Amino acid sequence: MLEAKIPSGPIEQQWDKGRLEMKLVNPANRRKHSIIVVGAGLAGAAAAATLGEQGYHVQCFSYHDTPRRAHSIAAQGGINAAKNYRNDGDSVFRLFKDTVKGGDYRAREANVYRLAQISNNIIDQCVAQGVPFAREYGGLLDTRSFGGVQVQRTFYARGQTGQQLLLGAYQALEEQLAAKTVTMHIRTELLDVVIVNGRARGIVTRNLVTGEIECHAADVIVLATGGYSNVFYYSTNAKACNCTAIWRAYRRGALFGNPCFTQIHPTCIPLSSEHQSKLTLMSESLRNDGRIWVPKKKGDTRSPKDIPENERDYYLERRYPGFGNLVPRDVASRNAKEVCDEGRGVGPNGQGVYLDFADAIHRLGLETVREKYGNLFDIYERITGEDAYTVPMRIYPAPHYTMGGLWVDYRLMSTIPGLFVAGEANFSDHGANRLGASALMQGLADGYFILPSTVPDYLATTALDPVDTSHAAFTAMKTEVTNRIKSLIAINGKRSPDSFQRELGKLMWDECGMARSDAGLRKALARIPELREEFWHNLRIIGGDEELNQALENANRASDFLELAELMCVDALNRTESCGGHFRVESQTPEGEAKRDDANFCYSAAWEWKGPGQAPALHKEPLTFEFVPLSQRSYK
Ligand SMILES: Cc1cc2nc3c(=O)[nH]c(=O)nc-3n(C[C@H](O)[C@H](O)[C@H](O)COP(=O)(O)OP(=O)(O)OC[C@H]3O[C@@H](n4cnc5c(N)ncnc54)[C@H](O)[C@@H]3O)c2cc1C
Repeated sequence: MLEAKIPSGPIEQQWDKGRLEMKLVNPANRRKHSIIVVGAGLAGAAAAATLGEQGYHVQCFSYHDTPRRAHSIAAQGGINAAKNYRNDGDSVFRLFKDTVKGGDYRAREANVYRLAQISNNIIDQCVAQGVPFAREYGGLLDTRSFGGVQVQRTFYARGQTGQQLLLGAYQALEEQLAAKTVTMHIRTELLDVVIVNGRARGIVTRNLVTGEIECHAADVIVLATGGYSNVFYYSTNAKACNCTAIWRAYRRGALFGNPCFTQIHPTCIPLSSEHQSKLTLMSESLRNDGRIWVPKKKGDTRSPKDIPENERDYYLERRYPGFGNLVPRDVASRNAKEVCDEGRGVGPNGQGVYLDFADAIHRLGLETVREKYGNLFDIYERITGEDAYTVPMRIYPAPHYTMGGLWVDYRLMSTIPGLFVAGEANFSDHGANRLGASALMQGLADGYFILPSTVPDYLATTALDPVDTSHAAFTAMKTEVTNRIKSLIAINGKRSPDSFQRELGKLMWDECGMARSDAGLRKALARIPELREEFWHNLRIIGGDEELNQALENANRASDFLELAELMCVDALNRTESCGGHFRVESQTPEGEAKRDDANFCYSAAWEWKGPGQAPALHKEPLTFEFVPLSQRSYK
């Protein structure tokens, strides 16, 4: 059933060959086709702008009040590309190899190779748009290191890379809005996907200001709706990030790939109070120059400046001399948890480790450090009240990114014909662990380069019946969506949507977070249906459905998180191996590293919805590694 549709031939020629074989749509015929793009973050804005430029009739949807508010704006550290400006040994093949290895051999080789190839086009495209990447004295674009690699391939714009890239994509989108090839629907949330004759042909949305439920038809639907880390409640994602679009598509037949593959980022500001609503990331780029340590002694409450060098444990440098503080995120996160569990954590609740810049300031000078990371130090000071130029930062791991998402083939099409998925919303090219600075690369590769080839091929090779919103499938879906909204309001119980999500998030963090066990996952699988049952009987939403109502929005999103959480635990329970960010305590090496089981789990798991109360069905896409042979990861 799962056919990845990878073009034949040598891996370095597959994308070019595949594109050559793809059919084109004559420019005069393009305006006859309509495309819906849901999402205006980096992946969605890039896709909408490029397809609009090609001449298609594009409608772009976002629940934000402007594309510029998409969560992509929060990306701080940078974007990878194999330009090798530094001549430090980088190449397309090395970026490919690092990404396959970093993902712990759970991604499709052909996709990752293509990603590495396209990485260089992305930098050219963004420079042409005027994205102000940092430059060296000589004028070349500057690069820095990120985790899991030994070259400097990360392009950056201070600590605001996502914002600058999004402004580039936004101005490209604005140009198409002015040209009227793209129509933008802001503050409009997708609540379901409409399937006609087995193909995705439209969406049902809610206008978040008026509450109106509307139908929109098209020839192709693209979902670029971001990740689902907020299933943990506390995460580095924006508060509004949610899983509704991909979850509803899953319920209509799109398979969900590797739902349990989530990333816990090692460098976030620790939680200071349960009343806090989200966590703040301190970019991984800080690990270039900051040194991570904890006291050697348990329960050492001395101020960091009073702890002498020989009483500090630079545990990453000690355990992984090859990569030191730049080990991949999963390894850095697990090690932080381990030293805190040993009682050597720092800060008010012992849930923190130091990220110390004293050496870097001594070596590079205060001004250089300020120039490279100034805005991150400012964020840290605003939140903690501490000056990280003089006192080490305190950091702790937090949910950050989801490698899981809707399963897609090489052309980024889901198992529903005509439904394409891009950016963090698809199950991506990152396997079981994403390397830093590669999400922006993937989102822009999908949006600027891959979809603009694969969507036209679908249009050119598919005989599509004329369908509009008067079709019975739209009427039925509109009724279903309306009834669901009304039934949420009608519950009229006592608990707020937020309280359910908070409880779910804690359960997921404890049992399906940085470490997972058979017993813990079974506990979560027993509790989630109870919590869902209570949700549908005891939820309270203040206000009505025909107005701006954020409690209703939150409740609607929470209802989907309550279902997705269960699938994540089912997937995690099934995968009895450890790999990347999925650490099963029953499967570790004698040194406490993740131990894969290639004989039984060298596959991507793709789950099929079987109906309410029914167990989902597992489909497997076998993975083969011809160019980066399977081996136990080592960063020693
Ligand atoms: C704090 C932080 C820092 C990061 N830093 C980096 C970094 O330095 N480098 C890197 O490579 N990656 C980084 N990442 C990851 C990266 O930012 C994201 O993976 C990426 O930006 C996601 O882009 P996207 O276009 O897929 O989704 P998003 O930017 O999340 O956009 C989603 C879009 O979909 C819309 N949407 C969602 N659901 C619906 C719906 N139901 N109806 C209508 N519209 C909907 C939203 O309005 C939005 O427009 C970081 C992530 C975080 C959290």
